[in-house]
Amino acid sequence: MGKKHKVYFDPVDIEIEVDEEETVLDAAFRQGVILMHGCRQGQCSACKAFLLDGDLEMDPFSTFALNEAEEEEGFVLLCKSYAYSDLEVELIAYHEDMLETGIPIQMIHAEVEEIEELTHDIRKLVLNLVDPPEMNFTPGQYAELYIPGSETHRAYSMANTTTTSQRAEFIIKIYPGGRFSGMLDGELKVGDKMRVKVPFGVFSLREKSDGDIVMVGGGSGMAPIFSILRHMVETGNERKATYYYGARTKKDLFYLDELKEMEEKLPNFKFVPALSEPEDGDEWDGETGMVTDVMQRLEGDLTGTEAYLAGPPPMVDAAVPILEMMGVDKEHVFFDKFTTTGEMEGSEKKEESGPTFPGMPG
Ligand SMILES: Cc1cc2nc3c(=O)[nH]c(=O)nc-3n(C[C@H](O)[C@H](O)[C@H](O)COP(=O)(O)OP(=O)(O)OC[C@H]3O[C@@H](n4cnc5c(N)ncnc54)[C@H](O)[C@@H]3O)c2cc1C
Repeated sequence: MGKKHKVYFDPVDIEIEVDEEETVLDAAFRQGVILMHGCRQGQCSACKAFLLDGDLEMDPFSTFALNEAEEEEGFVLLCKSYAYSDLEVELIAYHEDMLETGIPIQMIHAEVEEIEELTHDIRKLVLNLVDPPEMNFTPGQYAELYIPGSETHRAYSMANTTTTSQRAEFIIKIYPGGRFSGMLDGELKVGDKMRVKVPFGVFSLREKSDGDIVMVGGGSGMAPIFSILRHMVETGNERKATYYYGARTKKDLFYLDELKEMEEKLPNFKFVPALSEPEDGDEWDGETGMVTDVMQRLEGDLTGTEAYLAGPPPMVDAAVPILEMMGVDKEHVFFDKFTTTGEMEGSEKKEESGPTFPGMPG
């Protein structure tokens, strides 16, 4: 343990204590203060804040998340910041409903219960939680899964809800050579032991609102949206919601029956799958094109609508300006960018926990 300092957050009037050996973000979590965050790897910029007073140092981060000019001005990434004096920090964004949810972050010992092939490159991974035997989270949040036998971890969104809190269900896309996802192609076996740290993330349904909802997902970005939809079914949510899901070809689609069933259970929910590169034999009479274009073509004025986006960073980056142009208030665009862990283009220094690869800007 190192020296302790105080951190005061403006404008929410919250003070926490931080040890010199932990990041400001982790210190806040430890004290039940859930600040805005995304990847926790210095790559997505969700935890960007402004340092009003005090001394801190930052570990390496991607310049896509915080560029040099911003750093000089005084902006910081709280997931990479270590305090060396008392600090005063201005939060740029915060999620009032989650700020003091107080859901403690837990390390759970689990066992692989099931690995199911959903498509040629997407797997459902189910973990049985052993110690403690259940977890608490808000639908849309993610867990950090530790690669067996190492301290390296990767972020994966839960696809289930807390009604099945003794298990954790994930939807994971396999990247050949991917340190963790690659293990789902035969290496990881039922019964293998894994550690899971949970919950993280602020991507969740704004429960107090009754505005219409537009969801946009791609690939394994299905996971947090599926969790939110399951939660909407469980709570009998009647809000109008349309879910646009992008895949390349028909063989990349999955959970079509489950989503159809949700359409039957939720009176105002519609699922719209779109194929960007349908193959000749696909026999597809659904929507075609980039999922963002399909959404733009089928939706009109979106003033008053909330948007929930999850999946690859380029898809999220393409959707945000389109949604804003269509009338969605900037404050009502919520997203979960699946940034990757290895070194990325624009990285200041090499990350220690992941291999080097040319990734996508976060
Ligand atoms: C908040 C958050 C939530 C996430 N939720 C999910 C989820 O629910 N499901 C899910 O599948 N993923 C999710 N991710 C991404 C996940 O954390 C990993 O980054 C991803 O699975 C790759 O990890 P890996 O260990 O397999 O690959 P790494 O070992 O990190 O990368 C090695 C190789 O894999 C390839 N690769 C890895 N990622 C990509 C990519 N995005 N595009 C192209 N090539 C790539 C590259 O060839 C690279 O050289 C999430 C990320 C974040 C930040």
